[in-house]
Amino acid sequence: MSVEKTDVLVVGGGQAGVAMSEHLGAEGIPHIVLERGRIAESWRTKRWDSLVANGPAWHDRFPGLEFSCPPNAFAGKEDVAAYMEAYAEQINSPLRTGVDVTSVTRLESRQGFRAETSAGPIEADYVIAATGPFHTPLMPDLVPETPGLTQMHSIAYRNPGALPDGAVLVVGAGSSGVQIAAELRKAGRDVYLSVGPHGRPPRSYRGRDYCWWLGVLNKWDAEAIPGADHVTIAVSGAEGGHTVDFRALAATGITLVGRTQSCTDGKLTFSNDLAKNIARGDRDYLAVLDEADAFAKANGLDLPEEPEAREILPDPDCLTHPLTHLDLAQAGVTTIIWATGFALDYSWLKVNAFDANGKPKHLRGITDEPGVYFLGLPWQTRRASSFIYGVWHDARYITDHIVKRRAYLAYPGTPG
Ligand SMILES: Cc1cc2nc3c(=O)[nH]c(=O)nc-3n(C[C@H](O)[C@H](O)[C@H](O)COP(=O)(O)OP(=O)(O)OC[C@H]3O[C@@H](n4cnc5c(N)ncnc54)[C@H](O)[C@@H]3O)c2cc1C
Repeated sequence: MSVEKTDVLVVGGGQAGVAMSEHLGAEGIPHIVLERGRIAESWRTKRWDSLVANGPAWHDRFPGLEFSCPPNAFAGKEDVAAYMEAYAEQINSPLRTGVDVTSVTRLESRQGFRAETSAGPIEADYVIAATGPFHTPLMPDLVPETPGLTQMHSIAYRNPGALPDGAVLVVGAGSSGVQIAAELRKAGRDVYLSVGPHGRPPRSYRGRDYCWWLGVLNKWDAEAIPGADHVTIAVSGAEGGHTVDFRALAATGITLVGRTQSCTDGKLTFSNDLAKNIARGDRDYLAVLDEADAFAKANGLDLPEEPEAREILPDPDCLTHPLTHLDLAQAGVTTIIWATGFALDYSWLKVNAFDANGKPKHLRGITDEPGVYFLGLPWQTRRASSFIYGVWHDARYITDHIVKRRAYLAYPGTPG
């Protein structure tokens, strides 16, 4: 079979792949983007029905195109997919959908890589793994299969009506867990929400969205601190956007519990850490307000004061007297939703770009395997790396690196 050749092969046609294609195209670098599904497939089929972007449309976008919704609105997941599709068209991206990359290996004794794909082999000098930050759903093996109890990862959750009747335990209080719990409670379900350590920044403060504060406080560009403990962040753009407030969730009837620890004979045990986790979230929240106030003062910003943002609701009973155990059957729990994150799976990428634990080994996306790059990983270069806003900048950085490398390799040497 003849082998198609290109300079750069980008694997994945989500926001990372589209951003990469824009920068490569602008540099005139021949490339192909391969996507196994449709453009932005994750936004279409790996998110629940009502999901909206966590950041407002003026911020969660690429520089070259605005969303069709108002700038302060939070785009729905289908709008995000449509946006990425429109963007790919606008930049005339050589993006092919419905093509699965099954393996990438280094060529022997010459530069470049061979990709096996569902549409035939391709050889490329450079390969960008832009397959996303979230691959394999992580579900702790805590609760055995039990008749009458459905267990699913948040990736499989669609809407309240798709769940069996009965109460629901949502495990994990990051953005997914809190939004799913709130939606289920609104639909009339009895809901238990298992809350671990988290941050819960204000949605907005003194008339500015949190995304704006992260920008002016230079936190989007904050670099990952090796070994630092990055806790999950609970934010929401749902219903026009609001600060995630666990006491307010409890006031709607959600029972907050500590971390889910173990299960014996249908009885769950929760850690005695609920108050500690909520207090940590409060501290983070108040620290953002302090930093914002200090910045506004130091820079003479004329922003409306908002003292009421510092008012914390009274502790609900479930916080002062937390449940330590829950008999699932007795409580009528028929579904557990594990909003417990994801692991990476690069089994198709058979090159020397991983550490002893199989994790991507890279510096700012650049690996020790010359020509192989990662894009879109959480904290790849900065806090914003896995988000629409940040991946565009990381794609620029990787493109610059490829441009430099191509220049070195094209160097003709000194005559004589
Ligand atoms: C619930 C949820 C809400 C989020 N909300 C926001 C938000 O509001 N704002 C924001 O900026 N970020 C948000 N994110 C984070 C992030 O923006 C998204 O996860 C986004 O989808 C990541 O884009 P990506 O292009 O890096 O990866 P993906 O969108 O996952 O794209 C990777 C693509 O690669 C394809 N692929 C994978 N393997 C192969 C292969 N071997 N061959 C060919 N194709 C392959 C997949 O089909 C997929 O389309 C959210 C994430 C989650 C889980």
